[in-house]
Amino acid sequence: MSQIAASVETTFAEIAAKVVQGERIGRVEARWLWVNASDEELRSLAGRVRGRFHPAGSCTYMVMRIINYTNVCVAQCDYCAFYKLPSQDGGYVLSHEEVFAKLDELLALGGDLAAFNGGFNPHLPLSYYCELFAAIRARYGDALEFYALTIAEFMYLADHAKLSYGEAAERLKDAGVRWVTGGGSEILTEEFRARHSKFKYTVAEYFLAQRAIVEAGLKTTTTMVIGFDESLEERLEHLERTRQFQDETGGLASFLCWTFKPYFTQIGGIEITTAEYLRHLALCRIYLDNIPRIRTSVLTQNQGALGGLNYGADDFDLPIEDEVTQKAGAIVSLDFERILNYARELGYSPEYRHVSLGEPRWLAKS
Ligand code: SF4
Repeated sequence: MSQIAASVETTFAEIAAKVVQGERIGRVEARWLWVNASDEELRSLAGRVRGRFHPAGSCTYMVMRIINYTNVCVAQCDYCAFYKLPSQDGGYVLSHEEVFAKLDELLALGGDLAAFNGGFNPHLPLSYYCELFAAIRARYGDALEFYALTIAEFMYLADHAKLSYGEAAERLKDAGVRWVTGGGSEILTEEFRARHSKFKYTVAEYFLAQRAIVEAGLKTTTTMVIGFDESLEERLEHLERTRQFQDETGGLASFLCWTFKPYFTQIGGIEITTAEYLRHLALCRIYLDNIPRIRTSVLTQNQGALGGLNYGADDFDLPIEDEVTQKAGAIVSLDFERILNYARELGYSPEYRHVSLGEPRWLAKS
């Protein structure tokens, strides 16, 4: 990632004083921190901001599964190792029974969150999604929750059905959907999208769609992926746009950042280090002062992600499947206790949370 020299007129003490007083930092200060602050300095400032939202030593987690209901996609992002074009062999669409089997297995493993993530499949009409989600709600009720699609798929679905984003959101809501996750955002700059995923959407469209989702009364989240060829300025632009959207709508329940897995992708490359990921998490926590829940990615960083709790994160998933990242090199472990023990060794007491209730499951049930 390219780095730009920060202003020599700023000092750590000045930025720290602002953060301690609860003042917001801007891009100049974030740039300065990234270039000049030590790991310890970033950790301590991120810990300060985390402490405004969460007691020391607390953290939460969920056991979840990403259900890749189709791998057929026409978007052709050059960082994706998952998709098949409609004309290629190897494309699939899961049946209701196959989805139910995956959900049953999730429940059996102690999880209760599924996230649907597939491709831009031109053969799937809106009715496929509405019937699938309605069937899940009818079969499982509140025993599990699901993120129905990412914003990126939601946009494709709406456009394909010739509906406005607001109309599409209402249709999903009528089918029992409560969440559309902010996945598929990668880096939210128009330049990044033009370089890597020009058939996906523009950043302006992304936020229009997410606003429609919030206005329809659905819940949503926000995400970021780092480790492509993005510049520091692009990372900061992504954070600025996200913070601004949250100022305007208050609709973002959480922020999750993960790292690009390059294996078998068109652009390839080398993974960034866990140390760089943790520094970035700290910067996100400091910058996104209006999003209480900052999540660290076990899916792409394995046990190294737990170090993120010391860099401002307060929450994580224990995933049991995600074909998209697994195809590009991610490794999933079902040894949940081993992963939770890493958090305990760092001095944290992880508690399970139910995504819709937003609190530990046993508290929610009492
Ligand atoms: S990242 Fe998603 S939208 Fe892009 S090619 Fe892969 S499946 Fe399609």
